[in-house]
Amino acid sequence: DELISQIAAGEMVERPASVVRELLDNALDAGARQITVRLASGGVRLISVEDDGLGIPREELTVALRRHATSKIASLSDLETVGTMGFRGEALAAINAIAELSILSRFTGADSAFVLDGGTGELRPVARSVGTTVEVRELFFATPARRKFLKTDATELAHCIEAVRRHALARPEVGFSVWHDGKLIEQWRAAATPEQRLADALSDDFVSQSVSVLREGGPVRVVGRAGIPDAARSRNDHQFFYVNGRFVRDKVLSHAVRSAYEDVLHGQRQPVYVLYLEIDPARVDVNVHPTKIEVRFRDGREVHQAVRHAIEDALAAPRA
Ligand code: ADP
Ligand code: MG
Repeated sequence: DELISQIAAGEMVERPASVVRELLDNALDAGARQITVRLASGGVRLISVEDDGLGIPREELTVALRRHATSKIASLSDLETVGTMGFRGEALAAINAIAELSILSRFTGADSAFVLDGGTGELRPVARSVGTTVEVRELFFATPARRKFLKTDATELAHCIEAVRRHALARPEVGFSVWHDGKLIEQWRAAATPEQRLADALSDDFVSQSVSVLREGGPVRVVGRAGIPDAARSRNDHQFFYVNGRFVRDKVLSHAVRSAYEDVLHGQRQPVYVLYLEIDPARVDVNVHPTKIEVRFRDGREVHQAVRHAIEDALAAPRA
């Protein structure tokens, strides 16, 4: 089982940012409104994610680190309609196999919090308000070869921040802050509007130099913002796709955007955009990649057309 966890971890955890992604998924699944990420040395020494979500009941805490321990789906058919970010019950077990893990949690309505030591399995009472803090120390300590593949702390930190930004763009109503080596480096307060979050987590320029995208009525609802061609800067780090709230990379989607921009950018510059797709969960498979960053659409053409037309219409609309 230890070996299987190691292998699963290898596919799921490439670098500190992968751990950040999994822990943020869990915090959001737990209904957190405020999430604090603390990192040391680019996340290699420490990744701590603190949330004010519903917490973990004591009896679940003792089994949370077992592989396939998930509270989120009960049967295979639930996989078709899964509405949570997690569903495999693999992340914590995998992380525990490659780092020093501890989970501190107080469940809603419980009168005490408990801390679980992932190494010894020991559980003891501690003080904490309702919510969960997961601490991951010394990533890849047992596999020096993996640790050697990591880049500088600055690069790993940048990837961690990007992971938080992806989640922050998905959930404007949740507040996020990121600390590194004791310093507050990013803070995005719970936003009243999606535009406010885009301005905070990307830039004011991104909002002022983009148009609003909205296409509904078909099988794929598309909302978001797309850069105005005259202003579109040549940067490929402002390209975000979400499918049912999940950040994804997808060739069908990026091709659809490129074709919508073809006549205006002539392939000279990169479009910038943040697009949120809502689609019947039965029409997209999210269980195709260990990191869940890839999805498979049942009908790629219908998605391609929806995205392409959504952007073409937005770019053609008169602007105030
Ligand atoms: P999954 O997210 O696929 O269910 P994980 O290994 O990521 O699997 O987490 C295992 C279980 O631990 C979750 O199903 C959930 O019940 C619990 N859990 C993990 N993190 C949190 C959290 N921050 N708040 C509440 N429960 C959590
Ligand atoms: Mg999870």
